[in-house]
Amino acid sequence: MAKYTKEDILRLVSEEDIQFIRMQFTDIFGQLKNVAITASQIRRALDNEIMLDGSSIAGFVRIEESDQYLWPDPDTFAILPWRPQYGKVARLICDVHNPDGTPFVGDPRGALQRVLRRAEAMGYTFNAGPELEFFLFQTDEDGRPTTRTSDEAGYFDLGPLDHGESTRREVTLALEEMGFEVEASHHEVAAGQHEIDFKYADALHAADNIMTFKLAIKTLAQKNGLHATFMPKPVSGTAGSGMHINMSLFREGKNAFFDPAAPHQLSPLAHQFIAGLLAHAQGFCALSNPLVNSYKRLVSGYEAPCYLSWSHSNRSALIRVPSPRGQATRLELRSPDPSCNPYLALAACLAAGLDGIERRLTPPAEITENLYALSDAERERRGIDRLPASLEEAIRTMEADAVVTEALGPHICEQYITGKLREWAEYRDRVSQWELDRYLVTY
Ligand code: GLU
Ligand code: MG
Repeated sequence: MAKYTKEDILRLVSEEDIQFIRMQFTDIFGQLKNVAITASQIRRALDNEIMLDGSSIAGFVRIEESDQYLWPDPDTFAILPWRPQYGKVARLICDVHNPDGTPFVGDPRGALQRVLRRAEAMGYTFNAGPELEFFLFQTDEDGRPTTRTSDEAGYFDLGPLDHGESTRREVTLALEEMGFEVEASHHEVAAGQHEIDFKYADALHAADNIMTFKLAIKTLAQKNGLHATFMPKPVSGTAGSGMHINMSLFREGKNAFFDPAAPHQLSPLAHQFIAGLLAHAQGFCALSNPLVNSYKRLVSGYEAPCYLSWSHSNRSALIRVPSPRGQATRLELRSPDPSCNPYLALAACLAAGLDGIERRLTPPAEITENLYALSDAERERRGIDRLPASLEEAIRTMEADAVVTEALGPHICEQYITGKLREWAEYRDRVSQWELDRYLVTY
């Protein structure tokens, strides 16, 4: 059921003394965009009359056909708690449409909705609960980010070692004011690394929540003189930041991954979904792990996955089935990192899982050993394949995965692949400090 009607929003804007409304959407590379309108324009905004120049947005349209319209989703209305409390600022998350009213094929939020409709036609609602990890770093005298942290804390440590505690507290309170149900927040393994987990939602609103969460953390860290980053591996030799996604399918209000009579109480449907994710994890890796830097996280030894595998409680596996059952039964996909475009990553994951269901795939046997400790020969003997080792390999694998490319549609695929190949070419051109340290004197 819808949370807000147009009339509710008009009333809230005047009652709450809201002066500005940020109309938000996301480009295909996962950057949050917005145009601020004044309260006097709210009726036009709710009538889908706010325009944007799509030719200025990465991956959208060419200059000859650049008019596009923002159609706000009324349920996403929220007041931004970190903005002034007189003359308040609210936001609405929008879908992007063409002048003729049809949805724009290059809108990532639209792409996710297309796959969600497919799931709906099969009788399923797709829920997602993300776990975002991030670093809080100090800034220098000019306010520029560094990779220094004044914090020596580790997993679940408590102050006074943990200097990010007050930022985590402010973020948690701000998110709760915006209607999030924050379930846990804690210090993570690396110095300066944190995690905040919020309650799952239907995948569309989970993706909206991820975008909001990142904005809240970045804004509130800056207010505290810190720099928050969702870069997957900012410091080598220590843990990187993941964004594990907990996933479940519901049917008629019931968790369809739960089956009290099945082994481990995990339904055949859950097994098919696992098999689908495993079949396409390489194909959607360029989406779940979109940066050159993402592949520096997906290495052995830091609780980030490298191999195609699943298990119940093995944190070296790609997919884990956490212990809760009943309505809380879920699969945790551990490869995604928080730099991904959550709309595209969730669209691809769902398409992968649905493919597993449609083709009634069976997953391989569960792997209970530490995968990092198995030799290459042993993994080969057991037929355990690996995730792509670089962004380039991931893009090539994505191009060849019809389930993933169909989920995104040709427009997004083409734009995404072109942009990412450019990023890869730029990286290849550069000589790194590691190369100088290793080769300059020796050769
Ligand atoms: N930081 C780890 C990663 O890169 C995950 C740690 C955890 O299990 O929470 O995925
Ligand atoms: Mg974690």
